[in-house]
Amino acid sequence: MKEQNMHDARPAGKEIAYVTGGASGIGYATARRLAVAGFRVAILDLGEDRVQAAAGELSALGLDAQGYVADVRDREALAGIMDGEGRVDVVVCAAGVYTPRQFDEISDEDFRRTVDVNLLGVFVPAQEGARRMRPGGRIVTVSSRGALGGYGFADYVASKAGVIGLTRAMALELRPRRIAVNSIAPGFTDTPMTRTMPPDQYAKAVALEPGGAPATPDDIAVAIEFFASPATKFITGQTLFVDGGKSLGGLGI
Ligand code: NAD
Repeated sequence: MKEQNMHDARPAGKEIAYVTGGASGIGYATARRLAVAGFRVAILDLGEDRVQAAAGELSALGLDAQGYVADVRDREALAGIMDGEGRVDVVVCAAGVYTPRQFDEISDEDFRRTVDVNLLGVFVPAQEGARRMRPGGRIVTVSSRGALGGYGFADYVASKAGVIGLTRAMALELRPRRIAVNSIAPGFTDTPMTRTMPPDQYAKAVALEPGGAPATPDDIAVAIEFFASPATKFITGQTLFVDGGKSLGGLGI
């Protein structure tokens, strides 16, 4: 018999998960995991070719995936995609940008862009998703271990600390509607984002990891899948650090 809580108003049928930044790295690994778990997955990202390639790879595996080009700050585009799909069960906010820069070198424009994509770019899809969710819906944000502080990316640190605060605030306000909102805070992960670092800096960062290796995108996606699962909807407002224990301290950050 299908396990269904009597208070669970989710409609029957396949659940749809929207993954921002789903064409690359952690977002792509998440899209694949969620599709394998039985969701229809809507990949939202920049660049028609990248988006179609990511969705096409999943479709070729027999999975249910659709790609959409959408900037995370473009409310109208996101609303149109969600309305077109017809339902929202899960929103994973994984899109993000990172540029290594010393505190003294960050311009106002740099700072605004990072916060715009990483923080407003979580707020907009989460809000549009929540407006369409029934009780039992789940929102998963992707913050960062860097929210605890970090050297050489102050704008990113500020944006990701903001994501944790926003996650808690959304969880509180959406609690009466039984929409769960949680955050994953990844540690250093081998993705196209970290591979933009000069190779010597990348090697230095890896050496500082507790196990001497970065996370794989799937190491992070497994935790996102946990918060996206209907079985975990009673957990809300939490931030789970997935960083091999580095946030415990003792190694610098
Ligand atoms: P990635 O660069 O591989 O993927 C990020 C994706 O976000 C890209 O596909 C990019 O096109 C998309 N994106 C950027 N701006 C966008 C916008 N305005 N609208 C829509 N999509 C946009 O990087 P990743 O490492 O997989 O990062 C995924 C998330 O994990 C990010 O939020 C990042 O900050 C976070 N994170 C990454 C690490 C790491 O070490 N890689 C650590 C902690 C947190």
